[in-house]
Amino acid sequence: MYLIVGSGLAGCVLAERIANVLKKEVLIVEKRDHIAGNIYDFKDGEGIYIHKYGPHAFHTNDKKVWIYLCQFTSWYPYFHKVRAIVDGLEIPLPFNLNALYKAFPPGLASKLETKLIDTFGYNVKIPILKLKEFDDKELQFLSNYIYEKVFLGYTLKQWGLTPENLYSSVTARVPVYISRDDRYFQDKYQGIPEDGYTGVIEKMLDNPRIRVELNTDFRDVKDSVKFEKLVYTGCIDEFFDFRFGALSYRSLDFNFKSYDKEFFQSVAQINYPENYDYTRITEYKHFLDTESKKTTVAYEYPQEYKTGDNDPYYPVPNDENSSIYMKYKEEAEKLKDVTFIGRLAEYKYYNMDQIISRALKTFEESFYE
Ligand SMILES: Cc1cc2nc3c(=O)[nH]c(=O)nc-3n(C[C@H](O)[C@H](O)[C@H](O)COP(=O)(O)OP(=O)(O)OC[C@H]3O[C@@H](n4cnc5c(N)ncnc54)[C@H](O)[C@@H]3O)c2cc1C
Repeated sequence: MYLIVGSGLAGCVLAERIANVLKKEVLIVEKRDHIAGNIYDFKDGEGIYIHKYGPHAFHTNDKKVWIYLCQFTSWYPYFHKVRAIVDGLEIPLPFNLNALYKAFPPGLASKLETKLIDTFGYNVKIPILKLKEFDDKELQFLSNYIYEKVFLGYTLKQWGLTPENLYSSVTARVPVYISRDDRYFQDKYQGIPEDGYTGVIEKMLDNPRIRVELNTDFRDVKDSVKFEKLVYTGCIDEFFDFRFGALSYRSLDFNFKSYDKEFFQSVAQINYPENYDYTRITEYKHFLDTESKKTTVAYEYPQEYKTGDNDPYYPVPNDENSSIYMKYKEEAEKLKDVTFIGRLAEYKYYNMDQIISRALKTFEESFYE
């Protein structure tokens, strides 16, 4: 019997493969009172799917992952759109040519547009830090504007750290998109599962060889359950009793509110880099275009993670955490019958498609006997 700790995507893809391909028994222990980990969603009284742990939009260029998921769901075609409120104006993110015309007077917008296209070409993404390197007043004006107005305030709230104290990979990611494309992602395959993400996980686990024990913490059962192999998707520092110190995470608090009107905002996600203590507001009905008289939104407040008080969400990407993680990783590699996989066990942010791909690959490489 395989024991899997955690019923998120990592654990459930492996459970599905082990049960359906290897035809082996699987027990999943999950400390929460529901399956699906952080992609858990449920229908509220208005029939709107609420993503309990933050908005999830599926997108991938990985055809293998898409085909794999299509076994468990049909898709509602959805392109994620994100806007930011900057100086009281609603502008598209990533900052693109349409954003230029929303943010600046037409003469200035047109000048910047021409400069960007002449310098870099069309339909390309240029990190704002790269723009800064150009000895050109207009490009520097634009990169400073985006850095100050779109990136800095959001980053301070999101991480509780200045950009200098985070890996430059975080800053490098913020681009200017020289395009009129207002979609947040350009991936080939995008969509929302028609019966919700929890519905996908339910189908994955629909096999008599898979048993799930909810409200069950691995730490309470590890000495009493007998298993051949262990797949661990919880926090790696917790597995090793924090012997090299605790890894830090950023956590989130969601304040859900329902309003007695059809729509609250124009798109699913609006970011607030400059105003308020929350980083963004998500209006859930946009994901599946659910028709209802009322609407539900979530105000998202980043906060410090404290073990036992709230949930770990994002690994904090800096040197100190990397070096602690490497010590745990070394220990983990010594345990041949334990697979550490997932965002908590590998202390790494994964998009949904990335963790599915990783789980499928891990299965192919390490689970065939
Ligand atoms: C706010 C937010 C928004 C996101 N939006 C997107 C998006 O739009 N698109 C996208 O592609 N990806 C998105 N992601 C990423 C996505 O959530 C992850 O890829 C996915 O959840 C990772 O799955 P996992 O199995 O690694 O982890 P998890 O889903 O966290 O699963 C781990 C499970 O293990 C359980 N567990 C932990 N310790 C124990 C223990 N000791 N005993 C028993 N059970 C235990 C946990 O309760 C949890 O259920 C987002 C992430 C966040 C934080």
